[in-house]
Amino acid sequence: MQFTELGLSAELLRAIGEQGYTTPTPVQQQAIPHILAGRDLEALAQTGTGKTAAFVLPILQRLTAAQNTPLQKVTHTAPRVLVLVPTRELAAQVLESVRVYGAHTGLRSLAVFGGVGINPQIQTLRRGIDILVATPGRLLDHLGQRTVDLSKVQTLVLDEADRMFDMGFIRDIRRIIERLPKVRQNLMFSATFAAEVRELAHTVLKDPAMVEVARRNAPAELVTHTVIKVDQDRKRDLLLHLFAAHGWHQVLVFCRTKHGSDALARKLEQSGVRTAALHGNKSQNARTRALADFKAGKLAALVATDIAARGLDIDSLPRVVNFELPNVPEDYIHRIGRTGRAGASGEALSLVSSDERIQLRDIERLLKREIETSVMPGFEPQHNHSVPRPAAGRPPAQKPAQARTRSGSGTRSGAPRPARSGGGGAAKPASHHSGQRHR
Ligand code: AMP
Repeated sequence: MQFTELGLSAELLRAIGEQGYTTPTPVQQQAIPHILAGRDLEALAQTGTGKTAAFVLPILQRLTAAQNTPLQKVTHTAPRVLVLVPTRELAAQVLESVRVYGAHTGLRSLAVFGGVGINPQIQTLRRGIDILVATPGRLLDHLGQRTVDLSKVQTLVLDEADRMFDMGFIRDIRRIIERLPKVRQNLMFSATFAAEVRELAHTVLKDPAMVEVARRNAPAELVTHTVIKVDQDRKRDLLLHLFAAHGWHQVLVFCRTKHGSDALARKLEQSGVRTAALHGNKSQNARTRALADFKAGKLAALVATDIAARGLDIDSLPRVVNFELPNVPEDYIHRIGRTGRAGASGEALSLVSSDERIQLRDIERLLKREIETSVMPGFEPQHNHSVPRPAAGRPPAQKPAQARTRSGSGTRSGAPRPARSGGGGAAKPASHHSGQRHR
């Protein structure tokens, strides 16, 4: 299928061509016709599938079509489209997409999010915009100050709905929805259809079309997973050793906490590895700069927390390092979703200490495979790494929709060459089959 078959306007096709896109991705093929037809939509699609263009393109088309109807040729000041997103970074990325795809439409857009001054946002809102991208907290601030008018919203998009729940935004979202006109189009995108997401869908969406797409790259198929067992207090030195030994660049390093990210970033920087930290306590300017530098290849490492990294659109990262494993196994999938994109191979390397063996076991269950484990000479763990058998009756880790896996793993070029493989008693993945989707 070609973009021209979707019935998009010449202005949009021109912008798409300028981006070098030739064919619509599956979520775009499936979602765009429904959105153009004015239907509500519930879409299961993750970052990397092209989901942003899947809602931005038809929204732009509908707005320009309305604009060109003689009766409606009025200048609107209040936004007609509201896109709610969980994080500042995602707000900036969605706004960027709106501006890139809408470059030839003359539509006006703005992103409002916290961490930056509110006054410039107020001034732009006053001048009038068509599309508003917002994080819930800052939008509520504007509503409280009466600096935004949501009474003209025709289309509501809830992007990364599952993450909005994870981040505790559900009440805010409901409060915002109360301020919208009752008759409107609703589009919801989520990476999982967890129970609470389904419930929100029931209350917000009216007779929605359903779209469900597999990840662009199932992680286990393109990504090499490796675990190096090491004591917690040796992890920093091991990481430095890996940077020095392999001349790594553009490595996304995950930590569990903001404080831990800062400490690690400082240590790497002091040791000559160009590094920035990305987490919620950083000023918006610092975060934007860190991300831009990282994307431009100016940084060897970006140390991030899960929430800060959520939804980041960084193309084809060669390597993701889990300095600490996430507590929630699904976050491992989100983390490694940053690598192995667009057909490129990637490596997910985890430094695992003995107190993380339960997390490792849960991740292996989720992936339905054992991850190759090794130790690095000079960094052999002193603490016991054996894995307890799963307690009777413990439910298996829930599997996200697209975590298709394939057995076996290997170490590819550029990866550390571990001293021995398969050591340390990695947990056997649970044998239950959970290949079906969450529906
Ligand atoms: P998203 O899932 O919206 O985060 O998009 C992931 C990446 O895919 C972004 O870098 C987009 O620029 C890119 N993209 C979106 N649509 C297409 C397309 N039809 N062909 C190629 N790349 C695309």
